[in-house]
Amino acid sequence: MNEQIRQDLASIGPDLTNITRLFGLPDPDWDKGGPFSYGMEEVDGKLCCVFCHDAEKAERSAPLPPATGDERVDALHRRRTCRRLCRQTLYDLCRALTDQHPAWGSLTGIRPTRLIWEQLEAGKSLEEAEATLIRDFDVTPDKASLLRETVAVQQTLPLPGDQWADVYIGIPFCTTRCAYCSFSSGELGNGKLVEPYLQALFRDMENASALLRETGRSLRALYVGGGTPTSLNEEQLHRFLDKVMTMFPEAVEYTVEAGRPDTITPGKLRAILGSGVGRISINPQTMNDRTLQVIGRAHTAQQTIEAYAMAREAGVPHINMDVIAGLPGETEVDFTRTMEAAKALHPESLTVHALAIKRSTRLHLENAPLPDPAAAAAMTAMGRETAAAMGLQPYYLYRQKNMAGGQENVGYALPGHACLYNVDIMEENTHIIACGAGGISKRIYPDEGHIGRAPNVSNIEYYIERVDEMMTRRRKIFEDGAT
Ligand code: SF4
Repeated sequence: MNEQIRQDLASIGPDLTNITRLFGLPDPDWDKGGPFSYGMEEVDGKLCCVFCHDAEKAERSAPLPPATGDERVDALHRRRTCRRLCRQTLYDLCRALTDQHPAWGSLTGIRPTRLIWEQLEAGKSLEEAEATLIRDFDVTPDKASLLRETVAVQQTLPLPGDQWADVYIGIPFCTTRCAYCSFSSGELGNGKLVEPYLQALFRDMENASALLRETGRSLRALYVGGGTPTSLNEEQLHRFLDKVMTMFPEAVEYTVEAGRPDTITPGKLRAILGSGVGRISINPQTMNDRTLQVIGRAHTAQQTIEAYAMAREAGVPHINMDVIAGLPGETEVDFTRTMEAAKALHPESLTVHALAIKRSTRLHLENAPLPDPAAAAAMTAMGRETAAAMGLQPYYLYRQKNMAGGQENVGYALPGHACLYNVDIMEENTHIIACGAGGISKRIYPDEGHIGRAPNVSNIEYYIERVDEMMTRRRKIFEDGAT
């Protein structure tokens, strides 16, 4: 390998290990030279890669990306091509060694829709892009069609661009902590942190509102997440939403997470609707009471039904529902019950997650197992079928590490009800101005494939103490020329 290729492939080990893990193979030691050996050369304008394991060998080649005239962009494209080729060649070899076919083929990234968008930008049609995923990345036709359908809906949405920014506001309190939660949320406890938190947050929001004005950007989507924003009491929620609307009027779309059904009251719904918010999320996660107890959610399936009835009665125009496939101890029969209940409640949008066990969660500490891959695949397929039967279309999709059966999370919505914020956050194509503990502001540089990030501290007490520092950090990434 020449020096340029060596540099392009520096620190690719973790990427390659993600490929071998797809096949359940033990992690190789790429520094010391594990059971695999590999090489890459540049020949006649092409990159040629070879991977070997004992007598088995896989080879692939790819044309070098055309020069754009911008050295930085060219270097980025070249590095990307090198790494992708390396991953795909190793994938071919593992496939030959194990005779397994992972549903997402050689794709291990969070945002597989990106590959479709890349092809569209190169002038291909959606159908051609879908065929490329099957041919070059070994994605199953089922998952490739899911990606095609998702991007087809995204194409109908208002275009993102530099003149737009989304605003995220975090309310990091929940009544209890879910066993799978990796978010920066604290238990509400006696509520003594709520007021100091709101005071810090209001200053943060004011600063963010000024930043939006000064940079001349228009507000696209505003999302109040957390945490569970409806864990605030009625007066606090009212006061908070008043501030939101004063500081951030005229967004194209407003969402408030009302995740826990047991935190919803007619008074809170009045505060939400009265402020002009049209989209809320009420999330049962499962409609099985036994599982709700196991995962630490202090509500019942019946409370979800009552919360939907209350929201419909109040006149909420768009309710989203989140469910999780593969929760501890759940079988396909349990998930069928959840899907039947979802159908009966008629949410305008439905997000079907596959359980992911992250390091910072109780499930991880308890060594909870993920469900059998075949059962996880059957449940996510059931989610897709149910959504289709409800007239919902897929509109955003992402994957995570350590997900049940290597599946995916998919947001489905009725035509005209796709949530812009969900698409923006996943596609990373719109600036995000984030307020509150755990929020991450992002400035997007689409031409350079670069994102400037300013994460806020997650700890609620530190956030209250250090909110000025958070505001300065955020401002810095939006200063012209900052990267
Ligand atoms: S409701 Fe959401 S934020 Fe709160 S603990 Fe559960 S997963 Fe975490």
